[in-house]
Amino acid sequence: MMTTKEMLDYDRQHIWHPYTSVINPLPAYPVKRAEGVYIELEDGTRLVDGMSSWWCVVHGYNHPVLNEAVERQVRDMSHVMFGGLTHRPAVELAEKLLGMAPEGMNHVFYCDSGSVAVEVAMKMALQYWHAAGQDTKRYFVAPRRGYHGDTWNAMSVCDPVTGMHSIFRGTLPMQFFVPRPEPRYGEPCRAEDLEELRTCVKNNHTRIAAMILEPTVQGTGGMWFYSVDYLREVRRLCDEYGILLICDEIATGFGRTGRLWGVSHAGISPDIMCVGKAITGGYMSFAAVMTTNRVAVQVCSGEPGVFMHGPTFMGNPLACAVANASLDLIKGYDIPVMIGRIEAQLRKELQPLQGMPNVEDVRVLGAIGVVELKNPVDMAWIQAAFVREGVWVRPFGRLVYTMPPFVIQEKELRKLTKALVRVVSNLR
Ligand code: PMP
Repeated sequence: MMTTKEMLDYDRQHIWHPYTSVINPLPAYPVKRAEGVYIELEDGTRLVDGMSSWWCVVHGYNHPVLNEAVERQVRDMSHVMFGGLTHRPAVELAEKLLGMAPEGMNHVFYCDSGSVAVEVAMKMALQYWHAAGQDTKRYFVAPRRGYHGDTWNAMSVCDPVTGMHSIFRGTLPMQFFVPRPEPRYGEPCRAEDLEELRTCVKNNHTRIAAMILEPTVQGTGGMWFYSVDYLREVRRLCDEYGILLICDEIATGFGRTGRLWGVSHAGISPDIMCVGKAITGGYMSFAAVMTTNRVAVQVCSGEPGVFMHGPTFMGNPLACAVANASLDLIKGYDIPVMIGRIEAQLRKELQPLQGMPNVEDVRVLGAIGVVELKNPVDMAWIQAAFVREGVWVRPFGRLVYTMPPFVIQEKELRKLTKALVRVVSNLR
């Protein structure tokens, strides 16, 4: 067996990590195991997890109920193709998902990851208009500062500056962009906040298939919580101009914002919606696209009469089984109370950072706490500083943020917030 040092050396020399250089990579910390809200490193250091492994491990690691679901399913079958075959885990999951989904969702398409779900949602919108004989509707409109994944079309609707558009200029599809929703969560939306969107859809609706956005919280593109009036107005404008609304609930879904869905804050329903991440409690990569009867029927009415997508691991039974268990846990939570408790504590304990000279803004919504700095962080330094504090927090750019597992207890959350306050106060 390799020593820890040998393993880390091999990793450094041969393995690509997310958004990391192979020439001079930042250190990667070796994890031995994880349990509850703790990540344990090879040297025995235990870190309180402040990231839920990028939004998904909402029930904590090594959860007995989720473990059981995987173990039980593995004994029946880990995988079987979905073309021409079906199975109980997939059917039960569809029933559960549609039962929880915003009103109107009636069909489910299973995918292997969030980015693929976004690709599928976008293809659905294009096929919808193709079937309707409106082939000019081939483009998408998206707010700036959005994030929808790293595959081709998903990248094309990410923020044009942070979304790698300049690197892939000329090869990514061109889309329409409007300003990010400026009014904050809890604030009303004024007519001028929607002016550019209104003008854009008015002038281009014959070319726009759908609007795509992350409801209530823009995640990776800026961790921004915005006015629910904006969402309501978007819904209205989409209806007025014959544009489908795709809501990317991959990060916001399943309670993270304090309500079950991002759209629940506005009381609207999308035409197409993407879910992922927490769907399996972070056990494996899996996602789903849901849509209305109207969209599904239309997609399959025109040529070629079917929806043109069908990945190898579609409806993977292991993923469906663990998703069923994850959704049962979520259905058993009192989301407003559980997340409200985290929200209140985050608000109170991050408050001391507000107004510090290097801090631009502190904001909290649901189980998401964000400290926006005035300058980008020194990643190597700040990462090591958090590990020294006994927490796992991974900032990017000017954003230091936490979205802990829903099951975090008061004392563990205090450890996280104290670490945030201390590290941000001592920034280099
Ligand atoms: N949409 C949103 C809102 C996301 O936050 C993410 C992942 N951070 C994705 C899509 C892409 O999901 P995945 O990484 O599973 O492809």
